[in-house]
Amino acid sequence: MAKKEEIKEAAVKAAKKVAVKAAEAALGVAEAAVNKVAEAVKEATTPVITPEMAKIPAGPLELKWTNYKNHQKLVNPANKRRLDIIVVGTGLAGASAAASLAEMGFNVLNFCIQDSPRRAHSIAAQGGINAAKNYQNDGDSVYRLYYDTIKGGDYRAREANVYRLAEVSNNIIDQCVAQGVPFAREYGGLLDNRSFGGAQVSRTFYAKGQTGQQLLLGAYSALSRQIGKGKVKMYTRYEMLDIVLIPDENGEKRARGIIARNLVTGRIERFFAHAVVVGSGGYGNTFFLSTNAMASNGSAAMQMYRHGALFANPCYAQIHPTCIPKHGDFQSKLTLMSESLRNDGRIWVPKKLEDAKRLQAGEIKGRDIPEEDRDYYLERRYPAFGNLVPRDVASRAAKERCDKGYGVNNTGLAVFLDFSDAIQRLGKDVVAQKYGNLFQMYEKIVDENPYENPMMIFPAIHYTMGGIWVDYELQTTVKGLFCIGEANFSDHGANRLGASALMQGLADGYFVLPYTIQNYLSDQIGVPRMSTDLPEFAEAEKAVQDKIDKLMAIQGKRSVDSIHKELGLIMWDFVGMGRTAEGLKEGIAKIDAIKKEFWTNVYIPGEANSLNNELEKALRLADFIEIGRLMAVDALHREESCGGHFREEYQTPEGEALRQDDKFAYVGCWKYMGDDKEPQLIKEPLDYEFTERKTRNYKN
Ligand SMILES: Cc1cc2nc3c(=O)[nH]c(=O)nc-3n(C[C@H](O)[C@H](O)[C@H](O)COP(=O)(O)OP(=O)(O)OC[C@H]3O[C@@H](n4cnc5c(N)ncnc54)[C@H](O)[C@@H]3O)c2cc1C
Repeated sequence: MAKKEEIKEAAVKAAKKVAVKAAEAALGVAEAAVNKVAEAVKEATTPVITPEMAKIPAGPLELKWTNYKNHQKLVNPANKRRLDIIVVGTGLAGASAAASLAEMGFNVLNFCIQDSPRRAHSIAAQGGINAAKNYQNDGDSVYRLYYDTIKGGDYRAREANVYRLAEVSNNIIDQCVAQGVPFAREYGGLLDNRSFGGAQVSRTFYAKGQTGQQLLLGAYSALSRQIGKGKVKMYTRYEMLDIVLIPDENGEKRARGIIARNLVTGRIERFFAHAVVVGSGGYGNTFFLSTNAMASNGSAAMQMYRHGALFANPCYAQIHPTCIPKHGDFQSKLTLMSESLRNDGRIWVPKKLEDAKRLQAGEIKGRDIPEEDRDYYLERRYPAFGNLVPRDVASRAAKERCDKGYGVNNTGLAVFLDFSDAIQRLGKDVVAQKYGNLFQMYEKIVDENPYENPMMIFPAIHYTMGGIWVDYELQTTVKGLFCIGEANFSDHGANRLGASALMQGLADGYFVLPYTIQNYLSDQIGVPRMSTDLPEFAEAEKAVQDKIDKLMAIQGKRSVDSIHKELGLIMWDFVGMGRTAEGLKEGIAKIDAIKKEFWTNVYIPGEANSLNNELEKALRLADFIEIGRLMAVDALHREESCGGHFREEYQTPEGEALRQDDKFAYVGCWKYMGDDKEPQLIKEPLDYEFTERKTRNYKN
């Protein structure tokens, strides 16, 4: 009897277990179905930017720009004189735009943070500028430059823009030569070229390792001419702190001016213009340590974003493979060793772990390791492109070797860039002629002679492909507000090829904006100059002043840099070279905590109404914190790996980036919804009409 009861009890227990399991399974299925429906609803209700909204001209790829120029509206010379344009920035994008617009007859007000336009971050550019001249007769063409750029960006850029960029690249070289830019020349006097990553031709024009400096001097002389003629009014040491929007007769808000702080006196001032152009550079300094100039910032971009301009692809940041490794905790800057060095330098690590350990312990030097024990891992993995694979590929490959323990410096976070072959092949003099200033820079920083022992390099944050969304005319979603150069989301997709930033900045400033802005301004000729006493100006100025007062009143315990450094570490660890869903979520939580810490515990010494570097840095850091969060949010939503965005969950068995074209072939644009509110996603689908999307292959 007792046995029967036991059996019954066991049977009931088992039946209960089965029922619970079945219910759980049913619940799981129902939950998955609900999630799927929610995802489908989200997908269906996500706003989309159409090609018409992006103003992409119809017609064949190679005729789009010509057609646009043939049909755009123009402004006649008498009317140009009545129109004012504010240009924020004097880097290659801003200076070329300001000079060109003034040359055309517009009145330009040009702003920069530095004490001279010449000191914009562009001055640091080293390696060169691309153009499809095919001087080397090695098979280059406009199409090939277009194709390499689209492919290099992992098929995440707009076809029409990239083709236009390749098309105008040749004009840039002619323009700069006419200005007297001393590009390197071959023995016979023709302009010389070298190769950069992601290309199998030599199309990079250069001026030793100082190409940005020479190009900026060219743009600066054009700008100075206009300053002299009174067509450009130059405001150095002024920082834009907000953009002023004023509704037109239909109630549509248009950019009509800016609020800027005189960095010397601390005075807040108002400026009117019929249109505002922002060329404020990239936001790489979100990571604290980067190759960018110390004043490079993302604040201008955030000001545009807060006024309704969309922030596109914020997570696309470029990690450059050849930087001097970090060498201490008190460093505020990382130094780039130009990609041009990969023309002749060969990258390697030891084949044997014991050699790596001895290098790390400082017992041997790179030159002590015999040839047969060196692993030229880029040449091994990517025979077709070798050391000239694109930056994202080269950076990940370096990280992979270091993660496996083959790093060559005391932290284990470096690989060698070796010129011994090139010195043997070309002679030390030729190597010095081509790269001398870079070698000198390396020796000064590392205190080691790179002619005698291989350089040590490691990836570092360098460039941001993401930025403010612009249409084909380089206009943001705010009427009358244009964005150029590194500050916009640009033509580089998920990864920029070397020597293409200078090309894009100068294309925007010299050859694209001067046309497209007229299409907008032709409707503005009847708009009179407005008084800066209007309430919109007063309100914007008050908001800026309130923000400064709030910051100055905190008087906490932490320096701006200490908080920025902490943000940088979080960015590198959680939003850096390898990203995961889990890590990104953790990163977002940590960034939120940093934001709280900043707004309650930052210490800014001195006064607001005088020169105050700490206040300047604090204002920028407030925005870097927001950008860092936006980068993480974007990286979390993009469940694929493409270009510089590497989600560890999405990789091939060989560790290469794995795109999800069926789900993510779009520009991810984010709309500001208010402080402490999640931004809204808007998609610009990238429906490729002219190019077949392939898996990037640099192996054969
Ligand atoms: C070390 C290094 C080497 C490089 N080498 C190359 C290379 O060889 N080839 C290549 O193609 N690219 C290179 N790049 C990338 C390239 O230099 C940049 O992408 C490019 O110069 C950016 O130009 P820009 O005009 O958009 O902005 P920037 O040159 O950054 O200029 C920004 C301007 O905006 C102003 N500004 C910013 N915010 C404000 C504000 N709120 N108010 C007023 N003014 C403001 C600044 O004062 C400055 O004048 C390199 C980058 C680095 C860091």
